[in-house]
Amino acid sequence: MEKGLVSVDRWAEGSQVYFLTHLHSDHTQGLSSTWSHGPLYCSPLTAKLLPFKFPDFNLSLLRILHVHTTSIITLPSTTILVTALDACHCPGSLMLLFRGDFGPVLYTGDFRWEPNCHKATLARNVLCHALHDIDGVDVVYLDNTYSNPIYDFPPRHAATQQIIDIIASHPDHDVIISFNNLGKEDLLVEISRVLKIKIWVWPERLRTMHLLGFRDIFTKDTLLTRVRAVPQYSFSIETLEALNRIKCPTIGIMPSGLPWMKKSLRKSEAKVDNQVGCIGSPEKIHQYIYTVPYSDHSNFEEMEDFIKLVQPNRLEGIVSSSSCYIEPMYYFGRLCRGNPPMRQLHNRLKRKESGTRVEAVSGKASFGGVNYESDRGKGKTSRRKFFGVRVSRFGLSRKKHRGARIQGFAKRKPTIQVRPSLDASSLTVGGEEDDARGVGSGSDLFSLAVGE
Ligand SMILES: [Zn+2]
Repeated sequence: MEKGLVSVDRWAEGSQVYFLTHLHSDHTQGLSSTWSHGPLYCSPLTAKLLPFKFPDFNLSLLRILHVHTTSIITLPSTTILVTALDACHCPGSLMLLFRGDFGPVLYTGDFRWEPNCHKATLARNVLCHALHDIDGVDVVYLDNTYSNPIYDFPPRHAATQQIIDIIASHPDHDVIISFNNLGKEDLLVEISRVLKIKIWVWPERLRTMHLLGFRDIFTKDTLLTRVRAVPQYSFSIETLEALNRIKCPTIGIMPSGLPWMKKSLRKSEAKVDNQVGCIGSPEKIHQYIYTVPYSDHSNFEEMEDFIKLVQPNRLEGIVSSSSCYIEPMYYFGRLCRGNPPMRQLHNRLKRKESGTRVEAVSGKASFGGVNYESDRGKGKTSRRKFFGVRVSRFGLSRKKHRGARIQGFAKRKPTIQVRPSLDASSLTVGGEEDDARGVGSGSDLFSLAVGE
């Protein structure tokens, strides 16, 4: 069994302590109602929602990390400091800064820190405060979902307005919007506020909304509204065609950053190093379906700003596969601190780029195995391309999360320290030593392995 010190979004046995950044299913693979490998740290909101995803979970294992505070966690073999930051991704999502014998490590989880977002600004300030105390971050485990310059989509508030405009311009249509089990709540709330309309959600989602404190906006009565948020698995071409055939005129809206990649590749296969212009307007990919670039992940430019801020020695992607996977060091290695091996890697990758960009960027986007092609410029929907394909499968198959396991010590001098100005009341002490026995292997490296 692989022994480790800290596991983040990885649930195999053998670590002394576990961290859950948020409750999206690609981060909980291996976690279950009967999981009991050790203490599990998460945000208060995640702890509140977790029992509904895993009904018989042993709640005594849960430990709370309050946002924008630093916790001291005593393990059998060492002590670590963990600073929890708001990842601005979905309710309860955290970014985690670890400090200990292993050196500073930042695990972003899924995150979106937009430039003018108040919550992101707060989180950024807390991170800067913490970074001030340490001699640089060794490794950033990065949400590399969109670590490619072809991903150029707007802030969420702009995409929200686009969706509102689409709905308002179809006053006689029913509207279905593809949604996950968690996330993008602000989008629905804003639609409801601006259009003065309730939103239908499915029963499980309604329960989540109530847990999140949204009481009056959402309904499960279809007679009360023409706007419905539906689960991704039921959002399909067949569904929309059937609704239009037998019920009433209906359009579908798919909020996601992902479709905005393929279009860019088609427009500019040879210009991957250049921004390919504004691609942030709604796109009609089918007679009844719009995609809007609303994403809870950072776009390339936001990621670049983030790496400039942190300037780590090294980057590791937390997404092991996606329709457009790219090694984060490829574009961001130049922003890492003066680490010759890393610069060499970046330069080597850049040299490979000439004429062989596809080796670094897989441009095959697909809807459940069927190639996706935008209809922009064709003037007509290519029905055959989409027939029988669940659009939702695009999202489900787009990435595989792999988490991180931190293990070993300790050639590096411990760097744990707390700023004197840090409010002592913000420190929490965990009781995790009861369960964990997986002592570090003696390696002086962090290890990252593909998750379950
Ligand atoms: Zn997520």
